[in-house]
Amino acid sequence: MDSTPPDLFAQEARTLADARAAHAQAGAGTAAREALGELIAGYERLLRETRRLVQRSDRAEREMTQINQRLQELAAELEYRATHDPLTGVLNRAAIIDLVNRLCKTHELSLIVLDIDHFKRVNDSFGHPMGDRVLMKVVDCLRQVMPANASLGRVGGEEFTIALPGRDPEASLRIAHAVCHAIEANEVGLPDGSRVTASLGLSWLPRGGSFDEAYGLADQALYSAKRAGRNRVARAEPRPRVLRA
Ligand code: GH3
Ligand code: MG
Ligand code: MG
Repeated sequence: MDSTPPDLFAQEARTLADARAAHAQAGAGTAAREALGELIAGYERLLRETRRLVQRSDRAEREMTQINQRLQELAAELEYRATHDPLTGVLNRAAIIDLVNRLCKTHELSLIVLDIDHFKRVNDSFGHPMGDRVLMKVVDCLRQVMPANASLGRVGGEEFTIALPGRDPEASLRIAHAVCHAIEANEVGLPDGSRVTASLGLSWLPRGGSFDEAYGLADQALYSAKRAGRNRVARAEPRPRVLRA
């Protein structure tokens, strides 16, 4: 197939060819011939100039399209960087809080807060890069165990939160236990062969609730799990009910 673009000025080129033929036939020295010659020269200049302008505007349009595309890529990259943790790739603190607060306007949610046990020891004994590796391995475990509709965020140094849509206490407890076991079973490759474990707190967020509220309760539960020996799950007690006298 012919890929050359159609000549935008085919009609004008034909007119010019006709004028040149008429010019060649007209009698020598006539005023009409001179005027036709000038007209042809002017018309040729006009066509050349117009072609050049059209090419320039095509090039500018192509450049604009490329710039536009790059801008869109940069905006997406910026959005990603503003909402994701650079080390693990999960949502950062601000983004998971924002997401949970948005979701709980219309849904009930379960919230798991997870904190790696004795993580300081990993850094102190084997160095910060090994600590970073453990963080990434823990995130791999979480991703493998979490249901597809759950959201994961890093809320602190070695602290993560998982938001599960719906209030199904037994199901979310099962998921929390599965996460806990998956982390313990995971071979992270610490030089002394020791295992990494985590403690988890679980709470529920009613529709219309807030992240802070659910996080406070899950954090209290997490604290109980730590005190009870770590590498376990604790769920938040139902909120104390104030009874009327
Ligand atoms: P616990 O079982 O009570 O949770 O003890 P812990 O040692 O895990 O708790 P602690 O809060 O004392 O230690 C958290 C450590 O996490 C301290 C900090 O240096 C480390 N940390 C925070 N962010 C990062 C990170 O991005 N990379 C690495 N390698 N370490 C981090
Ligand atoms: Mg901590
Ligand atoms: Mg810890």
